[in-house]
Order: sequence, then structure tokens, then C-alpha cells
Amino acid sequence: MKIAVIGTGYVGLVAGVAFADAGHKVICVDNDPNKINALLEGQIPIYEPGLEDLLRSAKSRILFTTDLNRAVQDSDVLFVAVGTPETEDGSADLGPTYNVIEGICKAAESPKFIVLKSTVPVGTSRQVEKRLAEFSSLPHEVINNPEFLKEGAAIDDFLRPDRVVIGCKSEKAQDVMAKIYEPFVRNGHPILFMSNTAAELTKYAANAFLSVKISFANELAQLADQVGADIDEVRSGFTSDSRINPAFFYPGSGYGGSCFPKDVQALIHTAHKNDCTMNIVSAADKVNDQQKTILVQKLLSHFHDVKGMRFALWGLSFKPRTDDVREAPAKYIIEKLNSLGAEVVAYDPIAGTRAQKEFSGKFQLAESAIDACQGADALLIVTEWNEFRNPNYDDLSAALKNKIIFDGRNTLNPSDVKRYDFEYYCIGRQSLFSEV
Ligand code: NAD
Repeated sequence: MKIAVIGTGYVGLVAGVAFADAGHKVICVDNDPNKINALLEGQIPIYEPGLEDLLRSAKSRILFTTDLNRAVQDSDVLFVAVGTPETEDGSADLGPTYNVIEGICKAAESPKFIVLKSTVPVGTSRQVEKRLAEFSSLPHEVINNPEFLKEGAAIDDFLRPDRVVIGCKSEKAQDVMAKIYEPFVRNGHPILFMSNTAAELTKYAANAFLSVKISFANELAQLADQVGADIDEVRSGFTSDSRINPAFFYPGSGYGGSCFPKDVQALIHTAHKNDCTMNIVSAADKVNDQQKTILVQKLLSHFHDVKGMRFALWGLSFKPRTDDVREAPAKYIIEKLNSLGAEVVAYDPIAGTRAQKEFSGKFQLAESAIDACQGADALLIVTEWNEFRNPNYDDLSAALKNKIIFDGRNTLNPSDVKRYDFEYYCIGRQSLFSEV
């Protein structure tokens, strides 16, 4: 099967490399020449564990180019994986998607299967079909194949998906997609064929539900804090019910990244456009906005005024094992601390340079976790990288001005922190701590 993947970001690059690894011939296209040049030199422009090794093993079957025409002419199935960022009114920006569709129409000399891999609002396939009819006389077919990978675990998620969702209209499209994905579902997980509209909505349903779950955990943790219940005990208590899955029920500093915030907004926007409400999802979004600066609230309850203070901050990416800093809670915490007149010295194992380019707030980048703490008034943990889980408490005691830790991800073991006599603030675990 000759495949083109258009857009070589976190999704497109992983998909392209995985398809090539499965034996398909793949052309990866991006309109960013820097990205393509880096890939041609064997460098991976994003941090994703395992991607470099997989690319090495698939190298003979994958090409990288900025030339969309060539990719279209040389391929039968075209995966579109460009960004669909949030616009000012909350809707998804389909400009890059439609640019690619028009480019495909101009270049195609035979009918193609055009697979929308990006997360696109309900109804986009129909719009794309209309554009195809306008710009081309060839009978192209539009397929929806939303992606569910998680950054940081993207390779495993792509190679062994829980399910593959395909929205399409013809048996031929079903056969083509089944052939492409057959190597990835040998574990027996299903390929679910459905209408394009159902596939579009499935992706938003998944992300919205997960956002709701996280915000529920965060709100419950706040109540647990107030009433002196431990959120870990509560979680294990109520998720022992076979109807309630405990995964993703962890309170923290709010969700971020390039998907949940924008997909939640896009779903709310789609609902309004269709005279429906999305009250539960809207509430999850509101809770998350407050949660992103929960550590600053805790900091202010402790210090009252932080003007002129300096804080160490561990973790700049929106989650561990990625360099993606889009909508990362650290961004909001740094901005808030800047506005209160406090300084931030931050450390992240991977995302430091990217955060310096992309965050609007000011912070100094430290070379190591302990360097960030030298002379700081307190430590804030914002992303739960594994290397933060077992710090050397003697070194921390010596480095920090005050032995105070604000743990926005419940990363540390409360009994360790207590043993070293730190003041410790976490999210909803106070009773566990006080009983140690
Ligand atoms: P990204 O920003 O990392 O990558 C998009 C790529 O498309 C960029 O490299 C950009 O240069 C390229 N591009 C833009 N316009 C182009 C054009 N006209 N021609 C060729 N290339 C073009 O985005 P991403 O994180 O990979 O997300 C892509 C889509 O997948 C989005 O809709 C997103 O919501 C969805 N998604 C993302 C994830 C994730 O974890 N990142 C997971 C599931 C779904």
C-alpha cells in the first residue's frame, strides 16, 4: 500500500513511521522545511520515546518531503494529520486542513482515499466532500480515522491501539483501511467501522469524557482538602465499583496539552451551533481553568505576599515523557507568579528550551532539578517526571531557603517528605500526610 501522511507533527510523524514499520511505503509531507530538513538528516524534531528506534528500523520504506504534489501522485491513501488549533470563538481552525484538501485536488491524477486523521469537528467530512466536488472531477473518498495516541506513550498506543475507529461509506474504503491497520490489531482489539459523523463525534466524546473525569477528580480533591479526607483513599474506595474505572482519576494541576483544552472548546462550539448544550463539559473546562493555578493559591495561603520571592519549579511540559508545552499548567503558573512580582527558576528534563520559546511568562532555566532550588523560597512540582519522584532530601534541604514543597501532581511520597521535616502541600492528600 502506498501511503502519504501530510503533517509530520506528534501524530503524523508517529503514524508515518509506524505504517512504514508495518511494511507500507510511506511519504511524509510537511510545509515546514526546517522539520523536513531535520528529518532528512535523521533528526527527530519532537521528543517521543521509542520514535527514533522505530524510524531507524523503517528507514528504507519512508521518505520525507515538502512536495505535496509528488506525495499525492505517488500514493493511494492520503492521511491528513495537520493541526486543528483553537480559534478565538473556540471552534477548530480548519484552514490548514482545507489548504491540504485543495492541494490534493490540484495534484491528484487518479481517485484517492483521503483520510482525516486530525481531530476535526462533526460535519467536517461532509464539508470536505463538498470541496472535493468543487475542486476535482475525480471520485475521491473521504475517510475519518481519529487518533487516540497519548504523547509520551505514542509508539505503544499506535502499534497496539485499544481500538481503531474508521468512519467511511464504501466497502472498498473499509477493505483498504482494514489492510492498513491489520498489523496493529493482531492483539484482537477491534477495528470499529461506522459513519464519518459518528467517527468524528467519537473522538470528541473520548477527550471530553476524560476532561470531565480529571476535573471531577480535581473538584473532589478540593473538597477532600477542606473536610480532611484523603483523595487516594476515596479513589480506591469508590473506584472498586466495577462500573467505575479508576484510570485517569488523579487530581493535579489541571489538564493541558494540545488536545483536551481545544477539543473541549470545539465540542462546546459544535453543540451550540446545533442548538444543544454541553453543560457538563463546560463545567469541566471552568474547573480546569481554576485548577491550573491551584498551586499559586496554596502558595498565597502560605506566604500571603510573594513579591520579591524566588520559586523553583520542576516540570514545564504539560505531562511527563513529552516536550510538548502547549497549554501546560506551568505556563499559567509562571505568568501568575510573574504578575505577583515573584521570580521563577525552572527545570524540565526535556522541555526547557521549547518552553523558553513558547511561554510568554519570564523564567530562568536551570541545568538540573537541584540547581533550580538553590536559594529558592519554596519548590513547586508541576509535571510528574519520574526523575522528580525520589529527590535527595538532604540536597534539597541544603539548597532551598525554606523547606517547603508544593506538589501539584502528588508526585512525592508524603512519609518521605515528613521524615525530612519539610512543609508539604499536595492535592487532596492531607490526611494521609498528617497521619504519618
Ligand atoms: P502538530 O502541530 O504537532 O503537527 C501538525 C503538523 O502539520 C506540523 O508539523 C505543521 O508544520 C504541519 N502542517 C500544517 N499545515 C500544513 C500543510 N498545509 N501542509 C503540510 N503540513 C502542514 O499537531 P499534532 O499534535 O500532531 O496534531 C495533529 C492533529 O491530531 C490535531 O488535529 C490534533 O488535535 C490531533 N491529535 C493530536 C494528538 C496529540 O497527542 N498531539 C493526539 C490525537 C489527535
